[in-house]
Amino acid sequence: MRALLVLFSLLLPLSWSTAQAADKLAVVTSFSILADLTRQVGGEHVQITNLVGADEDAHTYEPTPDDAKALLQARLIIKNGLGFEPWLDRLVASSASNTPVITASRGVIPRTLDEDGEQIPDPHAWHNLANSELYVHNITRALIAADPAHQADYLRNSQAYLQQIYRLLAEAKAKLGALPAGNRKLVTSHDAFGYLGQAYGIEFMAPQGLSTEREPSAAEVAALITQIRNAKVKAVFMENIKNPRLLQQIAEESGAHIGGTLYSDALAASGPASSFIGLFESNLNTLYDALSQP
Ligand SMILES: [Zn+2]
Repeated sequence: MRALLVLFSLLLPLSWSTAQAADKLAVVTSFSILADLTRQVGGEHVQITNLVGADEDAHTYEPTPDDAKALLQARLIIKNGLGFEPWLDRLVASSASNTPVITASRGVIPRTLDEDGEQIPDPHAWHNLANSELYVHNITRALIAADPAHQADYLRNSQAYLQQIYRLLAEAKAKLGALPAGNRKLVTSHDAFGYLGQAYGIEFMAPQGLSTEREPSAAEVAALITQIRNAKVKAVFMENIKNPRLLQQIAEESGAHIGGTLYSDALAASGPASSFIGLFESNLNTLYDALSQP
């Protein structure tokens, strides 16, 4: 009897939470930033399964069998698009799921870069807050289409979250707008901050291109070091998704100062940068602290 009671008390919260989860809209997001944006708008009505986690690199991600299962159980799949998650497109195609896939970056005017003679769209559009606003609108519309019963809540959450984005936009203008003209060149591991640079007149250089897949050659690293010296680059920044070794070597050999860590393609697992607003604010402060001194 006692054993039965223990078993019952163990099963009760489990079945209760399973019933709760069944009421919620099951959403798969491809990476941690989209998971946060979706959570902000979806609130208590969504059950999110996120594929590429905090501090992980979506460019080199290899999906697991659990990911394929999550896609089959989802009622909505949200991806970044602009070529960020080719593995997800393959996974959706092979899973034969009929679940709608929405592209959070829809409507963004993409930056394109010439890589080996090919025009490649830059997927890192979330680093421009005007684009983040589009992401929030696209996610809100998709949640309402999938779960119209909670439209009022989705719209209210979306409006409240956009207010935070607008506040951050004003802060970004004030801080990055105030950087001295000579301090607007810097280096990161891969080319993830082009949209931020475009918005605020900052030139980001990187030993790796738009994707982290290809490691730079020794000659490419040497060319960048020369460029850093000639262009009087103020600082180099590490990224949370990358091993800092190459950047440390570049800083050492070029004499550039290390400005800290920027959050590029993923949230942090804990701390202030574990939300998108916190990530953006943290990047803003890191850049400002390293570059605002003449
Ligand atoms: Zn990237």
